[in-house]
Amino acid sequence: MSEIIRLLPDHIANQIAAGEVVQRPASVVKELMENAIDAGATRLNLYLKDAGKALIHLIDNGSGMGPRDARMAFERHATSKIREATDLFAIRTMGFRGEALASIAAVAQVHMKTRLHDDELGTEVMVEANEIKSHQPCITAAGTSLAVKNLFFNIPARRNFLKSNPVETRHILQEFTRVAMAHPEVSFTLEHNSAEMYNLPATTAQERVVQLMGPSLSGQLVPVQERTLYVQMQGFICKPAAARKGRGEQYFFVNDRFIKSGYLHHAVLNAYQDLIPDDAHPFYAIWLTIDPKHIDVNIHPTKTEIKFDDEATVYALLQSVVKKAVAALLPGPLEIDDEEGVAAAIRNTPPEQEPLTIGHLRTFPATKTSAEGWEKLFESKSQAAPASQASAQEPIPLAEPDEAVWLQFNERYLLSPTPDGLLILDMVHAHQRVRYEAVMRSTVLPPVASQQLLFPQSLRFTPEEMSLLKEMEQALSHIGFDLHPFGNEGYMLQGLPPDLTQIGAQAFFEELLALAREAPAQEVKNKIVERIALAVARRSSIQPGKKLNTREMAALYEQLLRCEHPGLSPSGKPTWFQVEHDFLDRHFRR
Ligand code: ADP
Ligand code: MG
Repeated sequence: MSEIIRLLPDHIANQIAAGEVVQRPASVVKELMENAIDAGATRLNLYLKDAGKALIHLIDNGSGMGPRDARMAFERHATSKIREATDLFAIRTMGFRGEALASIAAVAQVHMKTRLHDDELGTEVMVEANEIKSHQPCITAAGTSLAVKNLFFNIPARRNFLKSNPVETRHILQEFTRVAMAHPEVSFTLEHNSAEMYNLPATTAQERVVQLMGPSLSGQLVPVQERTLYVQMQGFICKPAAARKGRGEQYFFVNDRFIKSGYLHHAVLNAYQDLIPDDAHPFYAIWLTIDPKHIDVNIHPTKTEIKFDDEATVYALLQSVVKKAVAALLPGPLEIDDEEGVAAAIRNTPPEQEPLTIGHLRTFPATKTSAEGWEKLFESKSQAAPASQASAQEPIPLAEPDEAVWLQFNERYLLSPTPDGLLILDMVHAHQRVRYEAVMRSTVLPPVASQQLLFPQSLRFTPEEMSLLKEMEQALSHIGFDLHPFGNEGYMLQGLPPDLTQIGAQAFFEELLALAREAPAQEVKNKIVERIALAVARRSSIQPGKKLNTREMAALYEQLLRCEHPGLSPSGKPTWFQVEHDFLDRHFRR
């Protein structure tokens, strides 16, 4: 028998290995971003064309590379990050296998420019299917600019296997989000087909979560923290009311590396037991810091899974940390036995009860379980209740504010004496309610003729955003948005609902997209109209600080009274508060 075993030529070995590391454009994005972070960059600018299929270009201000390293970086198993086997147990960098650049360069055209901060000249390297096409000095900024063009250009089967642009874009955004969230101290931008999708200045972890997940999460985050000798944990979980149906967003980072762990996820979910519906998922972002000798990151080629040497401890700790944080959110029963106690109880009670989520609309709890203390306060109104608070069930009181006396204070509050005391309106919440109901009404009436714009406005969106907006086109047009798609890239806005001509179209659509992304597809479908109404309410209502005259203040109150649910803003916050005479009398010991 003849000898038949042969060594594969390098370029074939590289292509095969590339299959493991580079599955799709998103894998390239991840590897490039991690390399930039490893290189100590504080700024990453990512540019994409065609969902990364045509171009993935990352510019960083990290260490850069000297001429030799710039060439070496594309060799398989070329890494600056480990030198000997024991280093494998002390890995603090994102990469360490020295495979990514070699793999990427095996299946794409790569153009890199890089310069060390102390060097005057940089190095330009062009590689195509692992072949170095050029390697020469160049003028470039300190740091590294790496462009990956035409991924899989030399493997048509792989290229054809890629999914549609919206799907590939979504994968990229997922990787981008993971890296950007793990590193709030680093600033990131992302442009897709020349449209800016993200611009994230360096900030705190909490702010970064909000930058990425949308402002709707901003009031819903609860910090968690625990330190033991074995592991440190810190991060944010969401209030039970903010848990979403279907797929939620969950992030674990171990030593700043995003990881997936069904086991640890279970620990968190367990802590929410009985507080959220079975099909709801809480958002969380939790950073674990642990000595690298206790973990093994080597078990998965793309490194999203790791092993702890004492997993059960991490599980137990995580569960107890989250449980504690969740428990602290539940209002305990209030003890009320004397007058002083009532006053103290009221001072200590948060101004808003924890809202429950019904769809995206929040209302105050109708059940009596968690709010017994509050209920007691209001039941015995004659006895002690000094102040009224809006609630979903209670209609707005027939307080008759003095038509002529309205006072505006502290940016957003409107005050007027009533026969029972002093009425205070939150004008922003009140106006949002008015706006919201107006839109909701118009959706069940015949279509609204739009007010044509003198200068049509072009609005650009990413493919992913377009797919979300497509589902809302009909409802938007019904209420008076005159939108004409151009391709898959955006809309020409030719007209607006007549009473919304002042709305900032760009900001409105951003708000709408943020709301649409909050919920899984199924839910969005049923709630399209509510979402649009909420976005209109938020974007077109009075902003804090706006000065109103007496007539306008009285008119706003009138409009609020005509609403179906005047007591709450569309996001479930109170619109009014009344300080009753009783309370004043008591306070002044009359
Ligand atoms: P690994 O990250 O596993 O070491 P890579 O193939 O991703 O392997 O990168 C090879 C080497 O190239 C890295 O170890 C690093 O020294 C260098 N390198 C890659 N990207 C950058 C960058 N953006 N800035 C500085 N050096 C880089
Ligand atoms: Mg790497």
